[in-house]
Amino acid sequence: MIIEAEFVKSAAAASDLPREGVPEVAMVGRSNVGKSSLINALVRKKVARTSAAPGKTRLANIYRVARGSSRPFFLVDLPGYGYARGGAQSAREFEELARAFFGRAGHARPVPSPRQASVSALLLVDARHPGLESDVDAWTWMRQAVGASALVATKIDKLSRGERIRALRDLQSVFEDPVLPVSAATGEGLDELWKLIESLTNPNPTARNRSGPAGPPLPKKPSPSEHPTNPRKR
Ligand code: GDP
Repeated sequence: MIIEAEFVKSAAAASDLPREGVPEVAMVGRSNVGKSSLINALVRKKVARTSAAPGKTRLANIYRVARGSSRPFFLVDLPGYGYARGGAQSAREFEELARAFFGRAGHARPVPSPRQASVSALLLVDARHPGLESDVDAWTWMRQAVGASALVATKIDKLSRGERIRALRDLQSVFEDPVLPVSAATGEGLDELWKLIESLTNPNPTARNRSGPAGPPLPKKPSPSEHPTNPRKR
């Protein structure tokens, strides 16, 4: 499958994003969570720079990405929050980002009409650190403010078999939502992540009709060993 990815621009706020009616998928996460590595692994080339100077730039990098015959979308690589800090400082950083890119903190951008761009987001959390306060705060905010969002656990290759079962169970219990485990290093979970992104950028395909004959029924409660690809929708 051919994947096209090109850098479009850096932006300080959502108002600077290109307005082309193309769906947006924002990637959110703490600095060092593995966001740049994951973006590069997804598009199979080095578009995102891995963090040399963590927390320095407050700009989002926008990429236009198209995979196979799917419609293109903007991948919005948001600056990481909370590097080597925590608590109030980290919460403030996230709030600033949220305000700039998703609307006023705690309030969603207006629900887009069909001709406007859909806005969705992935929260990346480190599989080795389930339930960090800054991540939980970020998810709490995203759940209510972003149209569709989903959780991804990075660096899953760093955990042994036993550790990963425990970590995924902890993650899902802390966040109360399915978490997709991935590894930029081994490529694990990337196909599932593409499916997840496609479901975020293409919210109403018939293939996602859960009760219809198009696909097998989804499990009601995903177990940690399964790879959930169903984003949470408001
Ligand atoms: P960012 O600050 O979120 O963009 O994080 P980076 O992509 O720069 O990654 C931070 C560090 O984690 C780097 O040293 C990466 O090599 C490492 N890393 C990122 N993803 C993975 C992964 O999937 N597996 C492993 N083992 N290391 C990773």
